[in-house]
Amino acid sequence: MSKYTLTPGTAVPPTPFYYYDLDLLRRTLETATAEAAKYGYHIHYAMKANVEPHILREIQRAGLGADCVSGYEVQCAVENGFSPEKIVFAGVGKSDHEIEYAVRQGIFAFNCESLQELEVVNELAAKQGKVVNVALRINPNVQPETHKYISTGQSESKFGISYTEVDQALAKLHSLGNIRIVGLHFHIGSQIRKMESFAELAGRVNEIAAWFESKGVELKHLNMGGGLGIDYQNPDAEPVPDFAGYFRTFHENLRVAPGQTVHFELGRSIVAQCGELITRVLYTKTTAGGSDFAITDAGMTELIRPALYSAHHKIENLTAAAKGRPMGLYSIAGPICESSDVFARDIEFPVSKRGDVLSIRSTGAYGSIMASNYNMRPIAPSRFSDEK
Ligand SMILES: *Cc1c(COP(=O)(O)O)cnc(C)c1O
Repeated sequence: MSKYTLTPGTAVPPTPFYYYDLDLLRRTLETATAEAAKYGYHIHYAMKANVEPHILREIQRAGLGADCVSGYEVQCAVENGFSPEKIVFAGVGKSDHEIEYAVRQGIFAFNCESLQELEVVNELAAKQGKVVNVALRINPNVQPETHKYISTGQSESKFGISYTEVDQALAKLHSLGNIRIVGLHFHIGSQIRKMESFAELAGRVNEIAAWFESKGVELKHLNMGGGLGIDYQNPDAEPVPDFAGYFRTFHENLRVAPGQTVHFELGRSIVAQCGELITRVLYTKTTAGGSDFAITDAGMTELIRPALYSAHHKIENLTAAAKGRPMGLYSIAGPICESSDVFARDIEFPVSKRGDVLSIRSTGAYGSIMASNYNMRPIAPSRFSDEK
């Protein structure tokens, strides 16, 4: 059930808006940090999932570091109290000024994604008279079972340094005096629900790390990236993702050298379930083909995941009267002038009417952060369980 309760006699604030259950966020953080602590693992929160200041505050207080994919995210992390020693910076296209900013901050590591980037980071670090830590992001060619738009670790993907290029990368590192290789970084994709994919990753990492060690490179850290998936079909069955199983999978499969630290970059699994998008039905109509549509005041400008990668989100009708109505077959669509602006097609849903309030569940990650002003729409506000 949605955590957003409609109190009789109290007006619902103007829709659409995001609603965040901070208790669930705290419970999620407690579980994640406790399970990681069992093995001495470190978690960096993937900033790109959500940067609401309230949410960042909870995450920073829970002791997580930050995983950034742009210089702007590095800046946002620093401004929200994340210590630079806990910030990692990945991304296939870091621009010079983003690198310069991160060099100035003295971050934990640059996760470098190409041979050319190593040269550029070296050059920009030299300008500031610094030696910076880099981890090589290696594409391990692991195929997780997830949507192709959110899988990143296959040989044909744009991310990372190909495993066929590591020889060259190492040769280059020896000639670059302002960068120091301290670790290896991997990230095979997102919304991965099969632990076997992570076990396979750990196996590949063991081989790759052994190769570097055989060349005399001391790896101070191994970074396994993020990707742990959540239950979008049935968010109430698993409000807190299976962090125990996730970290145990690495503990059982990843070989860790003495003194080496292991890092993770979790985004979705930390924040997805605590968020809901609250919207109203504006109109209902039936197409010539007989399909019923409920048109909502939220659309792909608030939540683009269904339009972008056919993502499924559970939708609930929160209006009390809807509970007593029969079920129908509905498509729930936004107001944007794009045919892909549909949240769900032909789902079993209570007969819905103009003015009904709906909750689109599991939208705390890659929801508000991907909002746009398309059709000149304003950005939807956020509300928090603490405020009521
Ligand atoms: C997106 C991303 C993550 C986080 O992925 P989740 O699936 O949200 O856990 C971690 N690391 C990198 C490099 C990323 O690009």
